[in-house]
Amino acid sequence: MRGVCFYGKEDVRVEHVPDPQILNPRDAIVKVTSTAICGSDLHIYGGYIPTMERGDVLGHEFMGEVVEVGRDNRKLRVGDRVVVPFTIACGQCYFCKQDLWSLCDNSNPNAWMAEKIAGYAGSGLFGYSHMYGGYPGGQAEYARVPFADVGPIKVPSTLSDEQVLFLSDIFPTGYMAAENCQIRPGDTIAVWGCGPVGQFAIRSAFLLGAERVIGIDRFPERLTLAASDGRTEVLNYEEVDVLDALRTMTGGQGPDACIDAVGLEAHGTTLDAWYDRAKFSASMATDRPHALRQSIAACRKGGTVSIPGVYGGWLDKFPLGAAFAKGLTLKMGQTHMHKYLAPLLERIEKGEIDPSFVITHRVGLDDAPAMYQTFREKHEGCIKVVMSPDRPSVGA
Ligand code: NAD
Ligand code: ZN
Repeated sequence: MRGVCFYGKEDVRVEHVPDPQILNPRDAIVKVTSTAICGSDLHIYGGYIPTMERGDVLGHEFMGEVVEVGRDNRKLRVGDRVVVPFTIACGQCYFCKQDLWSLCDNSNPNAWMAEKIAGYAGSGLFGYSHMYGGYPGGQAEYARVPFADVGPIKVPSTLSDEQVLFLSDIFPTGYMAAENCQIRPGDTIAVWGCGPVGQFAIRSAFLLGAERVIGIDRFPERLTLAASDGRTEVLNYEEVDVLDALRTMTGGQGPDACIDAVGLEAHGTTLDAWYDRAKFSASMATDRPHALRQSIAACRKGGTVSIPGVYGGWLDKFPLGAAFAKGLTLKMGQTHMHKYLAPLLERIEKGEIDPSFVITHRVGLDDAPAMYQTFREKHEGCIKVVMSPDRPSVGA
């Protein structure tokens, strides 16, 4: 089959790779109908994620049709149409039972690698390095889904792929980011990053009762998309001083909660951002946490900083003193996907949200190398790329 493979920093190729096979009795094989490129894939593309190997199949946002089912899988049947969550979870360990699905103890066969860095390992992830299990991803024609009697959710034929695909990651991720803000009526939420995750964090903050949401980015088309709901206020950080603007907009108090939907590759124009860039290019830093620093500084006293943006290593110049002095709550982590699939599918079915609003590019699998580049550079107004293995290459 064809799969989108990693060959090193900024080197992604579509190659012929072996078809996946059932390895465990609870597995299923899914024929991928739609798959997407995520901001998290850009961290791999940029060479920030350790333990990637040449030839690894990428992708963790995918859906499709079940074409084969292991003998102990009583939940799925051949022909079922499913969305697959990007975190892999057994459903039976201590963590799965606590609804902490992305911390599953049984789905990461390479836990020892992550333990060296973090003490304990999170769950396995599709297409996201050997440290996270080394599972081939879903930017391919077929994918093996482990614990397929726990993760995938069946979706009704009345909804299109584009309406349900983002249940695989970015809709639950934005939603959990907003939920972590413990929003109360009247709250103002500021969201750094108006990429796909930021867009879903913004919409979810309103779904959860926020009164005001302020989106921050520098790309006009992303700010315009955020504001297109007629409610979201936006700030371009290249045009205004974000801290000053937020203080003024909130009567001098600061937002009740701040969401960092940027992660470890923050761009910035302030001194600390230049410092990060210099240190990173000298291989003396693992992350560029400018947006996180700013969200901690901006947050009101006693507020919450929610961090869906991915961080990789040991953060430099991290203002823990400010977070401590202001009594902030910090919440973060890979999304506990399985908890959100059914309730968010219900919101889509009820018409409360149509997740396809973020899509700007619809291409074939063979377009992946060009599209990684376009999405990374935010060229052509690119916000979200959906690839279908059956769609002819648009570049051809
Ligand atoms: P993206 O690259 O499309 O969006 C990031 C946005 O941040 C861009 O629009 C960029 O202009 C903006 N940005 C950069 N620096 C900024 C700054 N200083 N202030 C404000 N905005 C700034 O990526 P995405 O798909 O939206 O993903 C965002 C983050 O969420 C990534 O780190 C990704 O890895 C992470 N993520 C986490 C999970 C999870 O489970 N926690 C799941 C999916 C994605
Ligand atoms: Zn993702």
